[in-house]
Amino acid sequence: MKTLFLRDEGLGPWVEAMMARYPVLAPVARKSRFVFAELEDAKDVRLDYDTTILPPKKAFFPPKQDLVHFTGTEARGCIDPQAKVLFGVHPYDIKAIHMLDVLFREGYADHNYLANREHTYIVGSSVQKHYEHAFFGSVSVDVPVTGHDLFLTRVEGGYTIDVLTAKGEELVNLVSLSGASDIQANAANKINADALTSCPKKLNNTAQEIQAKVRASWNSPLWEEVSDRCFSCGSCNTVCPTCYCFDVQDVWHIDQKGGTRYRRWDACMTSEFAEVSVQGGTESFRKTLADRFRHRIMRKAVYLNDKLGGPACVGCGRCAGACTADIADPTAFINTIMEAKQ
Ligand code: SF4
Ligand code: SF4
Repeated sequence: MKTLFLRDEGLGPWVEAMMARYPVLAPVARKSRFVFAELEDAKDVRLDYDTTILPPKKAFFPPKQDLVHFTGTEARGCIDPQAKVLFGVHPYDIKAIHMLDVLFREGYADHNYLANREHTYIVGSSVQKHYEHAFFGSVSVDVPVTGHDLFLTRVEGGYTIDVLTAKGEELVNLVSLSGASDIQANAANKINADALTSCPKKLNNTAQEIQAKVRASWNSPLWEEVSDRCFSCGSCNTVCPTCYCFDVQDVWHIDQKGGTRYRRWDACMTSEFAEVSVQGGTESFRKTLADRFRHRIMRKAVYLNDKLGGPACVGCGRCAGACTADIADPTAFINTIMEAKQ
């Protein structure tokens, strides 16, 4: 790996050079919050964002995606990836993208996701400002930050750029950059290490301790006590960078000669998620608020750990900020479970 240095005044021209070749999705301000959006002006990039409302997974796994266009006699897949740059991704979201890569590659590989993913350049960015609910310094700490092409760290006078792949090399070659000094590279390492230790929230136990205790707490009264305030809105799922459930539907066009099969994000906290057709009616296999609340926490802290090398949570804190009932924060619930007698 080599590390380059980009002066502050070089950021705009570099982003413009990328925009001349590809759509560039980057964090931009929307009133008091931030979103990943396609840039129209390089000056709109906000690498000082705390977090975005929706995670960057929408670049590969959009909220609604056509899968197949069909007529009465034939069907045509909709995979048509466009090269793009996903710019300014925080390390916790890079981990989440890597987790989705693992999940969408296993078994029957999901080519609708993978085609978009493989055509995307990912440029990571250091955390300059913490989201008030963030706890990424105490979760998934054993999971490497991997799968991105470049990583920028804000240091005095500009940014260090770690060049990690041939795709990253292609992007840095759009402008002329010199190597970072040892002082700049060491400063970048310290900044990224400090970002982990200065998160506003934390889990108090290791992933292994949490996995064992949460699994053993299946019958705890806490599931019901806490979920009693849940509105089943599914917002905690929708904003989560590691949630990947979707619903598939077919819709016929109004001429009845053809139609579209599409998928859209689904949410296990909603009451419809676990409903299945049974003998002309419906049956739910997770009827109660507590059933659904427990399922979400089990998915994050227990079930996927072995497959992903750590919990399916990267500590972004988006779910905590999105929850009107103020119960979705994994640190609050898991720290309580860990302290409770079984
Ligand atoms: S469970 Fe919450 S904190 Fe964890 S990754 Fe999902 S949204 Fe972020
Ligand atoms: S935990 Fe909060 S965000 Fe999640 S479904 Fe319930 S009310 Fe909505």
